[in-house]
Amino acid sequence: MHELLKLDATETARRIRAAEATAHDVTAAVLAHIKATEPKVGAYLHVDEADALSQAKAADAAVKAGKAGPLAGVPVAIKDNIHVHGQQTSCASRLLGDFKAPYDATVTARLRAAGAVMIGKTNLDEFAMGSSCENSALQQTRNPWNVAHVPGGSSGGSAACVAAHSAYLSLGSDTGGSIRLPASFCGVVGFKPSYGRVSRYGLVAFASSLDQVGPFARSVRDTATIMNVLAGRDAHDTTSADRPVPDYAAGLRNDLKGVRVGVVRSYLDQMPNREVAGACQAAIDRMQALGATIVETSLPHADHGIAVYYVVASAEASSNLARFDGVRYGLRVESSSGIESYFRTRGTGFGPEVKRRIMLGTYALSAGHWEEFYGRAARVRTLICRDFDNAFAGCDVMVGPCAPFTAFKAGEKSDPLSMYLCDIFTIPASLAGLCALSLPVGYDKSGLPIGLHMQAPAFAEDRLLGYAHALEQALKPEVDRTPAIA
Ligand code: GLN
Repeated sequence: MHELLKLDATETARRIRAAEATAHDVTAAVLAHIKATEPKVGAYLHVDEADALSQAKAADAAVKAGKAGPLAGVPVAIKDNIHVHGQQTSCASRLLGDFKAPYDATVTARLRAAGAVMIGKTNLDEFAMGSSCENSALQQTRNPWNVAHVPGGSSGGSAACVAAHSAYLSLGSDTGGSIRLPASFCGVVGFKPSYGRVSRYGLVAFASSLDQVGPFARSVRDTATIMNVLAGRDAHDTTSADRPVPDYAAGLRNDLKGVRVGVVRSYLDQMPNREVAGACQAAIDRMQALGATIVETSLPHADHGIAVYYVVASAEASSNLARFDGVRYGLRVESSSGIESYFRTRGTGFGPEVKRRIMLGTYALSAGHWEEFYGRAARVRTLICRDFDNAFAGCDVMVGPCAPFTAFKAGEKSDPLSMYLCDIFTIPASLAGLCALSLPVGYDKSGLPIGLHMQAPAFAEDRLLGYAHALEQALKPEVDRTPAIA
């Protein structure tokens, strides 16, 4: 790997701004590295070399003109359900065909303004529905730590390319765990901002009361750097919050003095995978050594999280995906009548998991069943939100395992329910709109990464990143590794 690719994004941008490196050289190094790693990893669905190099040229010109942004010349990969003007947005579905984004999402426009080089579009489970990337209709992505294993999902490509050093940073979307789960499987930091913290304008909607865009990075410092660019109110997204954005990089700290860390004991004690439980416990002990007080806490209704999520998310998905009608976007299967064409387009274009969610959601919202399913799920969701309010009255951050296991083998999980259970620890924070992240804290005996899930109240991302940074720095000697593939 090129020496420049070993640096983090923050340092790379600093060097480019200081004219110690050029955006062109950094981008060319990433493009060459993509060529070397992609045959094995398959993280990218689309890379446009000429476009990336012309963005790099613009970044170098901005440096010369004294107008370099905070991410000047840094290659960033974008999940293929987020618009980059003129490039494909496939959602890893056949239904979108050769659809090209007619505008930049707000997050990609902000990255562009900050000088970032949008290097390519990454693979995902179709329409972000899945936990392994295996539901992609277009390509299989492999885990850079062991290519027989999945990268996690749904933002598997975005996690895998950052782990493989074939991007410095990437964007994903998280509806029930789709940033945090692949981050834990691929040994990178995956950050889900609070609901409303980052604009979703230009993100293809899956479940509108849950979806958030967020970054992947190889360090907490880089996560703070990119969050400074992404966060904030956007007039194009009425659900984006009109709240001041703190300087996340300024909030990073190296100790945990005075911090109360909440732990749900049963999550660790009853965890069948003792290696994951052990690594999380060791991280908690380290937090204590850094000055934190460990307190026991509980989330009595969180056990219902998966059931609530699959009603709410499927119901919202069935409504959001109704727009894919064979008229406005991508694929159209012609037939004798308009309605027949609609059925055939959707029947051909959507994969099995997407169809399952649409059917589940349509049923949950149908006359006579609405109250029984959606209404009841919405009420249990409120109970889960209250659990977090109560828990955060006694602690500043909650920590535990991000996933019940490390990355599993491709093809190992074939039934939908066992796939749904991957998100058992990440879904409650999504239902409550909190901010949360996965931090690499260790490896199992086969060398696969283990992630610690850290959750904080909505809009406390500055505190959350500060705590995660302290722990990351303390664990660095044991945890800082690079996959052999890179
Ligand atoms: N795995 C979950 C699902 O399939 C979460 C997906 C996501 O966060 N986009 O719905």
